[in-house]
Amino acid sequence: MSDLRELYQSVILDHSKKPRNFGALENANRVSTGHNPLCGDKIRLYLDVEDDVVKDIRFEGSGCAISTASASLMTQAVKSRPLEEVLRLFDSFHELVTETSSEEVDADGLGKLAVFAGVRAFPMRVKCATLAWHTLKNAIEASGATARTE
Ligand code: ZN
Repeated sequence: MSDLRELYQSVILDHSKKPRNFGALENANRVSTGHNPLCGDKIRLYLDVEDDVVKDIRFEGSGCAISTASASLMTQAVKSRPLEEVLRLFDSFHELVTETSSEEVDADGLGKLAVFAGVRAFPMRVKCATLAWHTLKNAIEASGATARTE
C-alpha cells in the first residue's frame, strides 16, 4: 500500500513539475477551455483531430499539481488514439476517480492513469483530476462550451 502511495506521489509530482505536451498547438482544429472554480484550475486544450484520430494534443493552463499532472498524463494517454477509444478512456477514468465502492476498478488500459485512484478519497480533488478530461470531452463533442466540473 505504501509503495502505491509513493508511486502515486512521484508520478503526480513529476508530471506537475514537468508537464508533457505543454504549450499551444498551432495547427489545432479543436480548442476547448475548462475551469474548476473550486480550486482555481484553468486549462486550454488544443487538439488536431484527423480522420477521427487524435493526431496531436497540447494544453496550457494553470492550476494545482493534481490538475496539471492529470492534463499531462491525459495528453500522453490519448495521443494517436481514435476518438471512440478516447471516449471509452474518459469513462474508465471517470469511474476510477469516482468509484465509491470498495470494489477494485478494472484499471486495465489506464496505464499510469491508475495513479489517480488515490484522489477518490478526496472529493474536492476529484474535480481537479477530471477537469482536463471534461474539457477533452467537450473538445471532441465540439460544443465549444467551457467545461465545468459541476
Ligand atoms: Zn485543483
